[in-house]
Amino acid sequence: MLRDTHLIIDLNDLEHNLNSIKTYCDKNTLIGAVLKANAYGHGVKYIAKHLYTLGIRRFLVATLIEAIELKKHNASYDVMIMGHTPDNYLNEIVKYQIVPTLFSLEQAIQLNEHGKNVDQVIRIHLKIETGFNRLGLQITPQAPAIVKEINALSHIEIEGIFTHLALKDRSSDIKQIQTFQAFVKALERINIIIPIHHVCDSIGMVLYPEYHMNMVRIGALLYGLESEEKGVLDIKPIMRMVTKPSQKKFLEKGETISYGHRWQALENTQIATLPFGYADGYPRQLYEKGFVSVNNKKYPLAGIICMDQCMIDLGDDDISLDAEVEIIGPQIPVSQLANLAMTNKNDIVCSLSQRLPRVYTKNKQVIYLNNPLVGDHYDN
Ligand SMILES: *Cc1c(COP(=O)(O)O)cnc(C)c1O
Repeated sequence: MLRDTHLIIDLNDLEHNLNSIKTYCDKNTLIGAVLKANAYGHGVKYIAKHLYTLGIRRFLVATLIEAIELKKHNASYDVMIMGHTPDNYLNEIVKYQIVPTLFSLEQAIQLNEHGKNVDQVIRIHLKIETGFNRLGLQITPQAPAIVKEINALSHIEIEGIFTHLALKDRSSDIKQIQTFQAFVKALERINIIIPIHHVCDSIGMVLYPEYHMNMVRIGALLYGLESEEKGVLDIKPIMRMVTKPSQKKFLEKGETISYGHRWQALENTQIATLPFGYADGYPRQLYEKGFVSVNNKKYPLAGIICMDQCMIDLGDDDISLDAEVEIIGPQIPVSQLANLAMTNKNDIVCSLSQRLPRVYTKNKQVIYLNNPLVGDHYDN
């Protein structure tokens, strides 16, 4: 692995979460696995590979590069981009057989031309604006006619139609869903029948089982990043982040630590240096707030967090240089770090950098290793 600081991802727990999601959804509802941002920091290559072996066929990402990455791993993955693809890269959609999200006639016409050039019909999903006001075709009086024109393009197949919920409260979400459904109905009245409809992300899926439609788009719950809305679902976090101390030292009362000497020992104390820092994605703002766990006991970070290292205050305790230090895991849940860093759980995990080796275990055995900086990938 070449480094003490690394991530351990438990594929049994991933399967467990997937099974909880499957149990909650109708068996005809497609489960789209959201793999954007390096699978929320969990390492997209082996998360995708494992989900594929578990029968998941639809993978969703945010950007073209993420989609191409997945297609290069396995051309038979069905990969959809949920974000915008710039006009000048639409040819890549055709080249790699990716399913883009479109929300304008202009792009549909351009994509249709690319499809014509190679005589391929391109599947697309249409995104509809229902109140989030981020991305989507606005529901103007002309909107059905626009969709009709897109639908009539020879090399475009509208496979899906979707919108995204703001999740403010039930009444505003239902209003968005009803706006969406009314638009789908309006399309059906002019004989545009789109097979796949979807509105729910993880929270939407839990809150609105009556609105799963034909597909749900699930990220956070797969990784066990549960929210208060997880409701009846049995979900486990699948990642741990661990390290080992690089050095220990005894400091006398009054001695200081790290940049600016901002931390000062109030008593004689034992300090350990740990080889992770903000360049690994650990939030620098956890200065004076963060802690790690060793042998089920918590120790606070001491001093400003450096790019690659930080220190912890062990007080009167001693730990072995071989001790496993938990940075994220059962003792230090992502939710707690997120609260302390005043952000959300997704932000914490998707920031975990490529510099961290990721190992994947199944039945407690390591089956994959992903260490992309040195080209180390293995399947065991
Ligand atoms: C990221 C994203 C999702 C997944 O959200 P989770 O809450 O992680 O399940 C679903 N839909 C869209 C459009 C997204 O951008």
